[in-house]
Amino acid sequence: MTTAKPQLSLYNTLTRSKAPFTPMDEVDVRLYACGPTVYDFAHIGNGRAAIVFDLLFRMLRHIYGAENVTYVRNITDVDDKINARALRDHPDLPLNEAIRKVTETTAAQYQKDVAALGCLEPTIQPRATENIAEMQKLIASLIQRGHAYEAGGEVLFDVQSMPDYGQLSGRNLEDNLAGARVAVDAHKKNPADFVLWKLSSDDEPGWDSPWGRGRPGWHIECSAMSERYLGETFDIHGGGLDLIFPHHENEIAQSRCAHGSHAMANVWVHNGFLMVEGQKMSKSLGNFFTIHQLLETEDFGGRKWPGEVLRLAMLMTHYREPIDFTVKRLDEAEALLNGWYRAVGDVSAEGGLFCADMVDALNDDLNTPAAVRALHELRVEAAKGSMPAMRSLKASAALLGLLTDTATRWFSGEGIETDAVQSRISARLDALNAKDFAKADAIRNELAEQGIALMDYKDEAGQRQTKWEVKR
Ligand code: AMP
Ligand code: ZN
Repeated sequence: MTTAKPQLSLYNTLTRSKAPFTPMDEVDVRLYACGPTVYDFAHIGNGRAAIVFDLLFRMLRHIYGAENVTYVRNITDVDDKINARALRDHPDLPLNEAIRKVTETTAAQYQKDVAALGCLEPTIQPRATENIAEMQKLIASLIQRGHAYEAGGEVLFDVQSMPDYGQLSGRNLEDNLAGARVAVDAHKKNPADFVLWKLSSDDEPGWDSPWGRGRPGWHIECSAMSERYLGETFDIHGGGLDLIFPHHENEIAQSRCAHGSHAMANVWVHNGFLMVEGQKMSKSLGNFFTIHQLLETEDFGGRKWPGEVLRLAMLMTHYREPIDFTVKRLDEAEALLNGWYRAVGDVSAEGGLFCADMVDALNDDLNTPAAVRALHELRVEAAKGSMPAMRSLKASAALLGLLTDTATRWFSGEGIETDAVQSRISARLDALNAKDFAKADAIRNELAEQGIALMDYKDEAGQRQTKWEVKR
């Protein structure tokens, strides 16, 4: 007997509608998300994108089985911003070494940051510099098929060679022409033509190619890496809204024209922006907080923020909506988590059933605010000490990448010696079991003075147990 798979619906930017998601192959579900350009710390806006596609990855694994989903998130380690940073930070090193230093340290920091935000490691994290041959192959195919040409030290994509260019963003070539600075782009057949390959000067990084020593344009990187690891056409491609045009539009143009295919990815998923006082958080505006800063310094709101608080602060809002990044939001997320940790104590998720309302909400285009509400309701039963509810809350939250700690450790951040608390709790349980109620009360009061509240409940075997919490 086969059981029906729960039906996931996703909003597809390409069709501008929400539709049931059907993978091309149920045992080989393929997701690609554009990853970071590694020249500097990632900010929490980049973190939002990482969390959104991590959640989608988790849901796909939940539905199709962990071994049947491949998630590729690339690392862009060739880019003019990287070169500039390498020259600035390591002027004494040869450029290649300086670049490697910048990209290695930044990529390692990124892995640490997004892991702290509860993101699973993608299946594959290819680097652009390790896929130059694949990019050159695509470019050669585009030239051969009449979709690209050499001019002014560049190989350019010829947008007019693709009749349906602009489908994803809904722009047509006339829109693109308006406002283009034609004089700067005199070598282009059309101002919307974009760079596939550009020549490098002797002191710039470059690779030999049929078109001279040079380096790839940004868009071709993702076309090459997604093809290599996921095939010419795959299931889902994601990124932030800012990538729809020109990045994803141009990825589609390159991949489809190089392969003569009808689609690069079947579903295009885009997350909304993280905003600060009405503006998109971005490096260029300077209105950003890095993930590292939020986790490790007191720069935002005068304190450090746990990764789970940052993660829930994102999930409280639907992924396509903008988020206003405020201390108030983080406080709210923390209050929710405190309540949930209080309710589950240190129980394990083992045997816990997934909360059906939460799974239904997630299946509906990753409706995380509704999923969070479902968990918050489940918390009521769990807080009364119902062991199935506690385990279910723990297991369900884990699907969202939350409640991954024990309550003891979660609440131990405030100068409380958790081992000492545990040993006083054991002493009190012994006293209770020996019916020495005076001693039990004395221990309860002693802990209360330290701001620790106790709650007794019975476990499945009918044994008396105690949960504790810090009254923050
Ligand atoms: P970047 O390193 O700027 O190319 O961005 C990496 C990822 O983060 C991309 O998917 C971007 O769309 C996304 N991103 C950048 N800024 C924001 C923001 N303020 N809010 C949400 N996503 C963002
Ligand atoms: Zn990309």
